[in-house]
Amino acid sequence: MDREIDEFLLELLRSRSPTGSEREAADVVEKYVGAASVGGVRRDVLGNRYAVYGSGDKTLMLAGHMDEIGFIVSYIDDDGFLFFEQLGGHDNVMLPGRRVAVITKNGYVYGVTGKRAVHLMDAKERKEVPETHQVWIDVGAQSRAEAEKLVRIGDPVVYDTAVRRLSPTRYAARAFDDRAGCYCVFEALRRLSRDSAKTDYRVVSVATTQEEIGTRGALTAAYGIDPQVGLAVDVDHATDFPTCDRRRFGHIRLGKGPVISRGPNINPKVFERLAECAEREGIPYQIGAESRPTGTDARVIQMTRGGVATGLLGIPLRYMHTPSEVADLDDIEGCVRLIAAFAKSLKNSDDFSF
Ligand SMILES: [Zn+2]
Repeated sequence: MDREIDEFLLELLRSRSPTGSEREAADVVEKYVGAASVGGVRRDVLGNRYAVYGSGDKTLMLAGHMDEIGFIVSYIDDDGFLFFEQLGGHDNVMLPGRRVAVITKNGYVYGVTGKRAVHLMDAKERKEVPETHQVWIDVGAQSRAEAEKLVRIGDPVVYDTAVRRLSPTRYAARAFDDRAGCYCVFEALRRLSRDSAKTDYRVVSVATTQEEIGTRGALTAAYGIDPQVGLAVDVDHATDFPTCDRRRFGHIRLGKGPVISRGPNINPKVFERLAECAEREGIPYQIGAESRPTGTDARVIQMTRGGVATGLLGIPLRYMHTPSEVADLDDIEGCVRLIAAFAKSLKNSDDFSF
C-alpha cells in the first residue's frame, strides 16, 4: 500500500540522538505524545521519557530505545583534526568518506571523515579495513585552537544523512534502529488514547536511552515502573538480500510484518498472546528464534525484580548499523496495531506464570 510517512516518525528519524545524548529524540516524543499521556511526558535522570495511558493495578511496559549508534570526540590534533571513539557497534568499513554532524553546545558542526586516498595506498593497504583511530573528522579547522573553538572533547557525532523515500512504502534512514520501535510504542499509546480504549492494565510507554551500549536506560526504567508485563520493540535483521545465508540467519523479509520473537528471553504465554492478537486483527507477522538473551531492552526487562513476563517485537530492517538502514512502513504500521491490540487484550485475571 502507498503510505505517507507519519510526521511523528519522520521527525524522530531526523533527530540526532546518539547514545548518552538523546535529547533531540526526547523532544520529539514530548512534542507528539505530551497531550496523550496522563500527566504529560515524564523524564528521569538517565534521560528516559515516559508516557502513561489508563490506570489499573497492573502495568504493561512498552519500551523502544531512542538512542542510536554514533561517535564521541576523544582527541584533537595539532592540525585541528578530530579523532573519536565509537558509541555502539559500527562496521568499520563504513567509517571513511562520510558526512558527519558533531553535536556541540552551540549547535551542529559539520565535518567529513577522512582517510588517505586510494592513490596514496600500497596494494596491501587497499584491502584493509581501517581501525577507528586511523580515520579522523575534518571540520575545516586549520589548527587545534580553531577546532577547539568549535568542538569540545566528549561531543557526540552522528552520520549526516537525509531520510529518503525509496519506494511507496520503503525508506532509507540513518536511525530506524530504533526510532522505528520508539515510534511504535508511543504511536500505539496515542491511538489507545485517541480511541479512549478500555484497558485493564495501565500502559507505560518508554523511550529508553543507552540501549546501544548495554540496555542501560531500560534497566532503571523497568525497575522504576515495576511492570507485570513488558514488551520491547526494536528492529530485527531482515535476511532477504544477497549473501545472507538463511541456514544461519533464518528468513525474515521486509514488508511481511513485524517479527514476534520466541526463545528463553521471551515469556511463552506473551508470545502466544501476541500471535493470537495478530491473527485476530489480520496483521501479517513473522516469527524469529532467539537462542540467547537478546541484545534488546527485552533482556533486562525480563530480569527485573522478581521477573517480568516479556515479549519482543522486531521491525524487519536491512543494513542495520549503517548510515543507510532500510525499513518498510507497512511493517511499522503492523507493529503499532499489534501493540495496541495486545494492550487491550490484557486482563487482570491473566496469569503469565508457566
Ligand atoms: Zn542497534
